[in-house]
Amino acid sequence: MQQVYHSLRLYLTNRKDRPFFLMLAIVLLLATQGAFSPLDDILRLTHIRARVHPGHGAVAIVSIDEAATAQQGPWPWPRAKVAQLVRALKASGVRQVAFENGFPTTNDPIGTRDLVQALDSLPEPAILGTKVSQSTVGSQFQIASPDPLFSKNALVAVRTLEPDAFGRIWTVRGAYQANGRSVPSLAAALSGTKPRPGKYVIDYAIDPSSIVQLSAADVLAGHAGKQLSGRRVLISSIRDNIPLPGIGGAQMAMIHVLGAETMAAGPQYDLGTLPALMLGLGLAVTLWFGRRRFALAALATAIAAFGLLPIWLESHRIFLNTGTAGALIVVIALLRLWHHYRHDGERTNQFSGLPNLLALREYPLSSKDVVIAIRIKNYPQLTAALPRQEAVLAQQIIQRLKAGGTTPLFHGDEGLLCWIAGQDLAADLAQHLEAMHNLFLMPVTIGTAQVDIALAFGVDTTPSDDAALRFASALMAADEAANTGARWKYFDTRRHDEAEWKASLLGKLDAAIDSGEVWVAFQPKQDIRQGRVAGAEALARWTHPERGMIPPDAFIPVAETHGRIDKLTYFVLDQSLALAATMAPDFNIAVNLSACMFSRADFVPRLAKMLKQAGVSPGQLTLEVTESAAAQSEEAMIQTLDALVALGVTIAIDDYGTGYSTLDYLKKIRATELKIDRSFVAAMTKSRSDRLLVNATIRLAHSLGQSVVAEGVETAETLDLLRRMNCDEAQGYLIARPMPQADFLSFMAAHAASHAA
Ligand code: C2E
Ligand code: CA
Ligand code: CA
Repeated sequence: MQQVYHSLRLYLTNRKDRPFFLMLAIVLLLATQGAFSPLDDILRLTHIRARVHPGHGAVAIVSIDEAATAQQGPWPWPRAKVAQLVRALKASGVRQVAFENGFPTTNDPIGTRDLVQALDSLPEPAILGTKVSQSTVGSQFQIASPDPLFSKNALVAVRTLEPDAFGRIWTVRGAYQANGRSVPSLAAALSGTKPRPGKYVIDYAIDPSSIVQLSAADVLAGHAGKQLSGRRVLISSIRDNIPLPGIGGAQMAMIHVLGAETMAAGPQYDLGTLPALMLGLGLAVTLWFGRRRFALAALATAIAAFGLLPIWLESHRIFLNTGTAGALIVVIALLRLWHHYRHDGERTNQFSGLPNLLALREYPLSSKDVVIAIRIKNYPQLTAALPRQEAVLAQQIIQRLKAGGTTPLFHGDEGLLCWIAGQDLAADLAQHLEAMHNLFLMPVTIGTAQVDIALAFGVDTTPSDDAALRFASALMAADEAANTGARWKYFDTRRHDEAEWKASLLGKLDAAIDSGEVWVAFQPKQDIRQGRVAGAEALARWTHPERGMIPPDAFIPVAETHGRIDKLTYFVLDQSLALAATMAPDFNIAVNLSACMFSRADFVPRLAKMLKQAGVSPGQLTLEVTESAAAQSEEAMIQTLDALVALGVTIAIDDYGTGYSTLDYLKKIRATELKIDRSFVAAMTKSRSDRLLVNATIRLAHSLGQSVVAEGVETAETLDLLRRMNCDEAQGYLIARPMPQADFLSFMAAHAASHAA
């Protein structure tokens, strides 16, 4: 029980999935209250419209309408007059006559005998409609006994209809238990079938205009012709117009006739709400948790199963209530859409709101697309000259680029952009680039300053759909362009052999580590309660002598996806342990660990050896594993993590809150630290839901004995909030940016001095 409660709590506190479970609960709760039955009705109306068809026409209606009463006087007519009508009907070839409203009592013996005779001359006994009233005991009903004179020549049938809460009549009964026997409904009697108890869903898809309807005046005048021949006739004397679902106003008799048609078609099967709801739950889960492809497939299945299938089923008299399931799918689909737009901070650039390089990695690139890297050559100078105006600068540049029709556009850090041009642009790309270049001949205005923007373009046309690799190629070409003063350069086509180029790019990374181009920056982590720096996170940097800074987003993913992250990992670890060795014994160093390192059998022993050699205790090292990697919780990973914990190393879940998963993994993975992703922390002072999430996460982590680090702390206000929420550590630009080791050491010295004072 404890276990169940625990995992339930974990599920419900996951930021991403909470709205899903909430909506699910709301929909199910509403369903138990019957809130979706109007929706079922609306859906049924659309099914009706989709399959309008003519009836069989076994029953016709003869109305005592205005023309008839104008001629013959008001209804009820004297029995002799009714007998005249019956004879006229017989003359038209009618099989059976039903009276919607029975006969009035009368003491006219001659007329009565006349009518009995007329009725007896018909091939089938007459039907007398009567009302029924609910008795006090259960499903027993009472009917008024008909005139005894008719009871042996006629059948009694119940004409009472049972409307729903909205006054609409969807169903008609086959028979009633009344006066101790089974009495058919008027519809059942007219259908000529054996009446069965229970309700039938009236088939309103039968086109009422296909039912023969005549005025009694015409019948009496002998104008019926052959229209009534061989049919049963319902004499309709009740003139009230009532609304029929999907049809509009009609006389009550039409319901009995459509009911009769429905019953004549055969038995019905009502599957109720449950089958669609079960399927709907499965589809909702896929729609929410599945990848985009599966979610779209779930949506298509839902449309087919809840929108189209019932139309086909209903034409085979099988009824399925899909309102609840349909509502669930619509709600979850909207939720996912909303979530997509609202919560993708991790995948957007904070300055421009454009998707970033992380989003680029997930872009469904076609191998025919042209990938264009755009580097703003003088970006470091620009940001230095315009402090705190990075956002305005980014927006100005992007506005101009977009004027040149560059979509989709991705925006990385440090003045890097990526444009994916469709294949149709490939032919006159040079012209396009020329035009884009010309767009930047005029300086842009930032506040009062006029600044020149210098761009370099790199074009990659390698036929591959590996977005990360293609961007790396394009970036390399852009840098070559920048260095040679060209406006743009194509990626060297001699490197078209993908495998070879990959090897060379990754070889460049390896060489860059050896030559010192790759180095490690350290960013302080502050103990919020005590205000002192408790440790640092190590972040890889690549400064190319000519190309300048290459952001980790541009080379780490490529190295990861091609299994070439080892050398970098050991390099960063080595540098980090060397730093830790010079610090106080309670100083903690955090290193990011790629998921692929877990499959390396020698990782743990090698790390243990490195720690020993550096003279750093394992407790001083934290390894950060991203939530999306941790959530996969593969066997090899769990084993490695257990070994690391056994060694005494701290495990932190990085980017907490962004993983598209349930929180199951938190039980399997023995992390002792949660790092709340910077997108939530940054939004915390403005967004209530982010604030709630951060607060709930801190409590959850504390209850599990974990400590919490908030990353991306940029303002004093945020830090203050975190302090009040009892968060353990903070990391972010407010405290310090990532910096080279030498700077970090002087930062620590200054910090220690100020802390001591
Ligand atoms: P991460 O692990 O989430 O690292 C934190 C990132 O946030 C760093 O970006 C850091 O510069 C940035 N940051 C820190 N404070 C703030 C702040 O107050 N505001 C904002 N907006 N950003 C802040 P960076 O250095 O570009 O690293 C990007 C990602 O590259 C890292 O994200 C990490 O996933 C990966 N990475 C970096 N170094 C390594 C490494 O040595 N190994 C592996 N496997 N991945 C690495
Ligand atoms: Ca990290
Ligand atoms: Ca992070």
